[in-house]
Amino acid sequence: MKKIICLLLILSFAVSLISCGAFGASNSINGESLKDYSIVYSEEDHDYSKRAAEYIQSEILARTKINLPLIEDSEDAVTENEIVVGNTERAISEKLNAETVGLQFAILADQGDVALEGDYFIIAAAAYFFIETYVPTADYDATVPEEVKVHSPIVKEAKNFIMLIGDGMGINQTKMFEYLENDREYSDGEDMFYGYYLPAQGQSRTASLSGVTDSAAGGTALSCGIKTINGFVGRDENLNDVKSLTELAHENGMSAGVMSTEVKTGATPAAFSSHADARYDDAGIIISQLEAQTKYGTVIECGFDYYTERYIEKTVEKKITDMLSKLSANKKGFFLMYEEAHIDKHSHNNELDKAFDAIVRFNQAIGRFMEFAFYNPDTFILITADHETGDLFPNSEGVLEYHSEDHTGKNVPIFAYGAGSELFNGQKIENIQIAHTIAHFMGVDNFGDQSTYQYLGK
Ligand SMILES: [Zn+2]
Repeated sequence: MKKIICLLLILSFAVSLISCGAFGASNSINGESLKDYSIVYSEEDHDYSKRAAEYIQSEILARTKINLPLIEDSEDAVTENEIVVGNTERAISEKLNAETVGLQFAILADQGDVALEGDYFIIAAAAYFFIETYVPTADYDATVPEEVKVHSPIVKEAKNFIMLIGDGMGINQTKMFEYLENDREYSDGEDMFYGYYLPAQGQSRTASLSGVTDSAAGGTALSCGIKTINGFVGRDENLNDVKSLTELAHENGMSAGVMSTEVKTGATPAAFSSHADARYDDAGIIISQLEAQTKYGTVIECGFDYYTERYIEKTVEKKITDMLSKLSANKKGFFLMYEEAHIDKHSHNNELDKAFDAIVRFNQAIGRFMEFAFYNPDTFILITADHETGDLFPNSEGVLEYHSEDHTGKNVPIFAYGAGSELFNGQKIENIQIAHTIAHFMGVDNFGDQSTYQYLGK
């Protein structure tokens, strides 16, 4: 007994030594006390920098109990020591100005300040890296290099899976930024489809058992990993219900959600949340969806853009944020499908401007999902389409034009990010292999119809 008491005394003495900083550690960056820093953020880029600054503030508070002030770049005077987030007017931002490729970001320390820089949502990856590397625990003395360092995002084994579908989004639809004047009311300066930032890029063949696919068979291929007949959602050619990734996630104890700018009975959301052999059987789809909601707890959030045809960015952002916080409450992870439906509709009508607006708002949604993945590096994201619509390509003068009012059999793009995404890079695969491969990442190797096309990496 005496021995134990003695041991406890020694232990508590050691603990008090550590907490008093008797071993020389006290939370500092390059010799400056962390307590003396302010966090300055850029006002640009859809508040990505502001949210990165807030993330840094809350993580530092959680780890060290130190609450640093947040300062807008535009408003306040330069303070003594600053953590500068995003592209600001501060002198250190001028010095940082690094050459980055893809998802890379840069960090620099200079005269007691630290600056992080990354395009758009990539600043989130910089903020996560900064916290993990330089404020890993309470009582840590960090040394940030005083020369520009370029880094890639931290990636961990995936437990969250997000599939983003641009309905009717062929390869040329994703290149609209290059062809059209980027002065859209809502585009706010983005100059590229965000998919092109992602490290893995490939293509998918979309044909269904009916030939050129519709959104029902295309959605079912991506959701259930089977080729089926046009018009069918979640059912095979013999009218059997086929398990979807949504249902697979639930079987694994994960959460699942379905989001679309289309009403919930739309072919794509229906393919991920119901089983019916007629995409226009609204009553059948709704009953099937109710079952999924009550039996499995599938979260369905659809139709938020359908009536207005206008993108209210904050509204959609809030719906995405709410959905992600609901789903990520499950520690086992989740599967989420998000669709932008209007690229297809406007491409049927050959309305280039409106289709581009739909691409722009899809792009902004992608940015928010990528931001989530950077703060939650155990997240896998894949962006693709069910089919191309409108046979869009540039004429001999380089002007982008539609050449059809229907779906085409053209390949569609795949962009992927996260653990395992490299399997998709440079590949031309069947659309059903996307579902097979995501199921494989979830630990299931016999998902869908793999008689002809297996999961990648097999
Ligand atoms: Zn269509």
